[in-house]
Amino acid sequence: DYLANKIAAGEVVERPASVVKELVENSVDANSSWIKIEIKEAGLQEIKITDDGNGIPHDQCKKAFLRHATSKIKSENDLFHVRTLGFRGEALASIAAVSRLEIKTSTGTEAGTRLVLEGGHIKEEGRSDARQGTEITVQDIFFNTPARLKYLKTVHTELGHITDIINRMAFSHSDIRFELTHNEKRIFQTTGKGDLRQIAASVYGMSVAKQMIPVHTRTLDYEINGYIAKPEVNRASRNYITTIVNGRFIKSIGLARAITNGFHTFLPIGRQPVVVLNITMDPYLIDVNVHPTKLEVRFSKEKELFEAVSQMIKDTFHQQTL
Ligand code: ADP
Ligand code: MG
Repeated sequence: DYLANKIAAGEVVERPASVVKELVENSVDANSSWIKIEIKEAGLQEIKITDDGNGIPHDQCKKAFLRHATSKIKSENDLFHVRTLGFRGEALASIAAVSRLEIKTSTGTEAGTRLVLEGGHIKEEGRSDARQGTEITVQDIFFNTPARLKYLKTVHTELGHITDIINRMAFSHSDIRFELTHNEKRIFQTTGKGDLRQIAASVYGMSVAKQMIPVHTRTLDYEINGYIAKPEVNRASRNYITTIVNGRFIKSIGLARAITNGFHTFLPIGRQPVVVLNITMDPYLIDVNVHPTKLEVRFSKEKELFEAVSQMIKDTFHQQTL
């Protein structure tokens, strides 16, 4: 199955940032309260993720590297109310297939497990200490897929993708303490006790965060909370629209459009707003299984949601100008 893993890796693992995303999502799913991300040379040399989560039991650890091995869903029905970030069971197998990977993991109740894999093959196996949590080190990503390696951009670009991922994770999990270092220098951190505005201050800086107004609305099916920057604070790209649905960072063109529509005449032409929205709903109303990266989603009652979002933003500025 090594070939199948390598092919699947092409979909899941596009670049160092995809590795970071998948590993951090696993740490979140494992109920971590602290996640440290240590990057060397934008991840091309090394990516190390350490968490204080549940850990993997010794007898499950090797299995976790098999394709479609997931501990998160048990039946087909579970697919329709996914509450974890992962569920496809592809990430560890895919990442291991295209790198040299070491894992040390423990549930805290028994000696832990240590495995070393190279291109998906197990090279070393043994026990590690019993500190609860998981540490995964990925080195020499794409060493055995030279075409993929060649396609990667500069250190600067790849690092930008990684900080994007961590910023989004921080927004969607303000109760988790994140620490990001690059070449041993700390470049980002959160307290784990923050609200969205505090995270906005870490991500965009205090001056932007100060210009953000809290917004809230609810409909029969959706609850929406967040912060929107005053229209004077605007950007040239849509990248500053952050949408989180049930704790998952998502991209939705429809939702982004609903947000921009809400700003309508308040925003200078060609400019985009700075917005962070946290939307909660019954997971039955959202399909996250559209693409392997789980970034694109579909809402079943999208009109209700989009209208509520636009109206909420319009109302905010209406009240401000009164
Ligand atoms: P998925 O997240 O879709 O289940 P992955 O390939 O990402 O699939 O991970 C496989 C399994 O390995 C997970 O279902 C989980 O049981 C275990 N796992 C991975 N990373 C961690 C971690 N940091 N802490 C605890 N368990 C983990
Ligand atoms: Mg996963």
